[in-house]
Amino acid sequence: MRIGHGYDVHALVPGRKLVLGGVDIPYSSGLDGHSDADAAIHALMDAMLGAAALGDIGVHFPDSDESLRGISSLVLLTRTAGLVKNRGYALCNADITIVAQAPRLAEYIPAMLDNLASALGCSASRLNVKATTEEKLGFTGEGKGIAAHAVVLLEET
Ligand code: MG
Repeated sequence: MRIGHGYDVHALVPGRKLVLGGVDIPYSSGLDGHSDADAAIHALMDAMLGAAALGDIGVHFPDSDESLRGISSLVLLTRTAGLVKNRGYALCNADITIVAQAPRLAEYIPAMLDNLASALGCSASRLNVKATTEEKLGFTGEGKGIAAHAVVLLEET
């Protein structure tokens, strides 16, 4: 068994789509970034790479790669699953926490789980996504950005 942790933050800006867990979420602003800036998936990818001792998302999918501009992070998640599999590991489970003051995310979580399970090629029962606020404190509480944490357990295949 191998454990990994991931953390990611993106700024909320006008004129961008808000994408979390591969779901387009209607909102007045979206996350800024090179890809679709899906902080939930980026945290999950970093946790998977960390557990497999494969570095981090920036090593495998650098901002300098123009082919990745605007790419769906679900595509990057599938590639990450391939890297982990090639390293000899399979996903036991993953737990993701999205930290956002707004919008409310609960109604989108089932669709996120479906998207993540499809991208990973695993059962949704191995995955958990939850959302919380930071009680209007700090940058997430002030609506300046959205953060995500992920913890992953891998097992040797
Ligand atoms: Mg990111």
